[in-house]
Amino acid sequence: MTAIASSPSNDSIAWMRISSCYLPLATPISDAKVLTGRQKPMTEIAMLFVEIESKDGHRGLGLSYSKRAGGPGQFAHAKEIAPVLIGEDPSDISKLWTKLCWAGASVGRSGMSTQAIGAFDVALYDLKARRAGLSLSKLLGSQRDSVQCYNTSGGFLHTPIEQLLVNAAASRERGIGGIKLKVGQPDGKLDIQRVEAVRKRLGDHAPLMVDANQQWDRPTAQRMCRIFEQFNLVWIEEPLDAYDNEGHAALAATFDTPIATGEMLTSVAEHGELIRHRAADYLMPDAPRVGGITPFLKIAGQAEQAGLMLGPHFAMELHVHLGAIYQTEPWVEHFDWLEPLFNERLEIKDGRMIVPTRPGLGLSLSEQARAWTREIVEVGKRA
Ligand SMILES: [Mg+2]
Repeated sequence: MTAIASSPSNDSIAWMRISSCYLPLATPISDAKVLTGRQKPMTEIAMLFVEIESKDGHRGLGLSYSKRAGGPGQFAHAKEIAPVLIGEDPSDISKLWTKLCWAGASVGRSGMSTQAIGAFDVALYDLKARRAGLSLSKLLGSQRDSVQCYNTSGGFLHTPIEQLLVNAAASRERGIGGIKLKVGQPDGKLDIQRVEAVRKRLGDHAPLMVDANQQWDRPTAQRMCRIFEQFNLVWIEEPLDAYDNEGHAALAATFDTPIATGEMLTSVAEHGELIRHRAADYLMPDAPRVGGITPFLKIAGQAEQAGLMLGPHFAMELHVHLGAIYQTEPWVEHFDWLEPLFNERLEIKDGRMIVPTRPGLGLSLSEQARAWTREIVEVGKRA
């Protein structure tokens, strides 16, 4: 009977700290969008962090992010909608997602507005799991203690071919299972040379993927997919524009090599359309980009029902947990870029990423993250 006073159901959200942090990248990053002239090399990532504290002192940390533009917009939107959470029960995560969505309904249910919601949603899940003393994957219902992982950061297009081979070998030595190479350059011959060289160096059976970052038109994608069939790739990623569901579906139906896409989509509805069109063999949702864990779970449920495989995009620190709950074995993307933001590191062994057993996401913000923070706003009062 005495437990009622401390029951989580009586708890409420008392305080939030929203911060805008800019993570610098050691080397300017180029994928095919830079080589086709659509974007400039990327030099930093804008992080949106939300820290939530309840009346009873339970805490959660959430994150969202944007690349190139969007950071100030996400922060501004988060700041504007945050007050609607004060006094709410932090356990009611679905209700709170909807409440945040309605608070900003006139700017839509996808894109920047929902990405701001994503940071709150992840923080609420982190709080709930920490309070339960469970890792996020255990809270959600885990299928496995580790997930297959592949490296992306070593295979970008600004990396010369000799260095590409060194990076691929180093990743494999570190215990990362698969290697992804960026392709989609205006001169497709260069793409083929790079893939051929890495395939030769790693041998026939090492898991290898390619990613064209949406830079082929339909005829080029047909031609390149046909050429790439010989390399026994795990997948060909974003061969076409992210919203070309019909085009992706035609490639998926034509070629043996699986087609992967979905990272650019920013809502459950957009992923639902992709799934309905059977436009991917591997679906690549990005939890912060679609608005957090709440929408991610809805997407994963639809993907599972449709028999798709899963390869969540970026933010391995979060997706290691979300990959662990998917029915079939997913591939989680190893990107070491966000590591300096946190005090903890993921363990990698025998081609797999070990799902952290620490409560929640198992993450705490580093001093470095605080130092890179440009703007902070606090909402509510600490209990
Ligand atoms: Mg990609």
